[in-house]
Amino acid sequence: MILLVVSTTVLVAAVVAFVVYPLLRPQRSPLDGASGQSEELLCRRDRIYTELRELEFDHRVGKVSDEDYVEAREQLETEAARILQAIDVQLKAIDDEIERQVRRLRESRRTCPSCGATVTPSARFCPSCGEPLKAMAKR
Ligand SMILES: [Zn+2]
Repeated sequence: MILLVVSTTVLVAAVVAFVVYPLLRPQRSPLDGASGQSEELLCRRDRIYTELRELEFDHRVGKVSDEDYVEAREQLETEAARILQAIDVQLKAIDDEIERQVRRLRESRRTCPSCGATVTPSARFCPSCGEPLKAMAKR
């Protein structure tokens, strides 16, 4: 009988954990996607720098003619400029998103009018002094 109770309890706990876990997981932030894109841009930038160094070397040892060198170098530099510009745009977008999240966090903070303690937006009583709090206006 005890074994049955124990195994039922374990089974129920497992089912509850299975159902609840995905609900508790933190949501993906839009920043995750942005940082993935930035990483790709940074990889492309590094690749171009490597290619430029190789081109420089090949030209110096005479494997690439002056004419080809100038043309290839121009192409690589144009591509590098394009990527650096894209990186700037990405960084600006990440900055904006961080600022937006900080602003939202600041707006959701609340203090007790009686003692000044920080309280959660959903609190109905101050945890510090017990003062009843008005429900916070929904935004
Ligand atoms: Zn208080």
